[in-house]
Amino acid sequence: MTTVLQPFPYAKRVPAVTPMGAAQASSSSDVIPFSYGTPTSDAFPYDGLKEAALKAILDHGRDALQYAGAGGPQVVKEWIAQRSALRSIDVTTEQVLVTYGSQQAIDYAARTLLEPGDHAWVEAPTYFGAVSTFRSSEALITSFPIDEDGLQVDLIEKALEEAVRRKHPLPKLVYCMPNFQNPGGVVLSLERRRKLAELAYQYNFFILEDDAYVELTFTGKHLPAIYSFAPERVIYLSTFSKIIAPGIRLGWAIGSSDVIRRMNTFFQGSKASVFSQEIAAQLLQHLPFDDHLEALASRYRSSRDVMVDSLKANFGEEVSFQVPEGGFFIWLTFPEDVDTGRFVQDAYERGVSFIDGSKFFVRPEGARHARLSFSYCTEEQIRRGVRLLAEAYQAYQAS
Ligand code: PMP
Repeated sequence: MTTVLQPFPYAKRVPAVTPMGAAQASSSSDVIPFSYGTPTSDAFPYDGLKEAALKAILDHGRDALQYAGAGGPQVVKEWIAQRSALRSIDVTTEQVLVTYGSQQAIDYAARTLLEPGDHAWVEAPTYFGAVSTFRSSEALITSFPIDEDGLQVDLIEKALEEAVRRKHPLPKLVYCMPNFQNPGGVVLSLERRRKLAELAYQYNFFILEDDAYVELTFTGKHLPAIYSFAPERVIYLSTFSKIIAPGIRLGWAIGSSDVIRRMNTFFQGSKASVFSQEIAAQLLQHLPFDDHLEALASRYRSSRDVMVDSLKANFGEEVSFQVPEGGFFIWLTFPEDVDTGRFVQDAYERGVSFIDGSKFFVRPEGARHARLSFSYCTEEQIRRGVRLLAEAYQAYQAS
């Protein structure tokens, strides 16, 4: 029998191509990766993790490897509930769902809240990992701009009023990153947090509050989470990826007992990475966590300072940006007519990668922006990378 391979009718919701090109994915080790939204491997609590992994096995034997684990999952949930109190989130462990990274929490939230054709509203710019998840739930996506105080909630309010007036569908979900937004680096003001929470009750939508970078504050300041103002209409997400290590694949969702029970059904009776949770439980009990966080923040703060100084020295008035007070990213704004996508490839060939702005928008816009990440590189790499980027930009301007 001869086999004829027919084209397969894959589900349309699965994209045929990945959104990033090689220049942004930057897999070459010769290239300085400002495109990576990745923590520096030097900052992982490496020795602590080594000991924690061994201790998880030695203390609990094979139980640590069972579906339910040996108690680690409960310890992790308790730690998350306690830590969340710092953001004025008052919850019991029943309201915490531990997931395979916060990316899975976004997916489970989207699947719980959205039917095909429902409306999801996002920030412009926004995190593309969330957008592709909403798209795979077949949601219709609309975006709203941010400014230096985060999402422009007044525009959300106007759009809601307009939708009611015209009898258009209201959003089921508004996705928002209140702290050190990816890619904008901005923080949502207290007043806007309150207002967005109020609107969620008034218009009956859920806020998906993605707080992946909250612990990486360079000022020590914290605002209350949006969750604290609308606990029945917010699903709050965060992750160990940026503060322990992404390879441990542990994130979490916090919500009302009702919504968390619904999200939990996707686990089909199992739990996320039980062995990872056993390791995390050991680590969290033994690591001086505040010292660890302080060291992380101080490392990232220095990297940010070096990038800010290098940008000023190499670009002068040619780019503008807000200095981020936490997180991983600097969001550049070039003059009006610049298209940063046109020098991504040249920059890559010169030895530096970045992500051009349009990749962070759901509509064709944002070409004059670029996202640079200062989290992964050494200070020396940052200085060199910004010089190379300036050369690529000058060559583009001259062409
Ligand atoms: N949310 C945001 C804003 C992110 O930047 C990321 C990772 N870059 C994630 C969620 C997902 O992270 P993880 O699945 O590793 O927790």
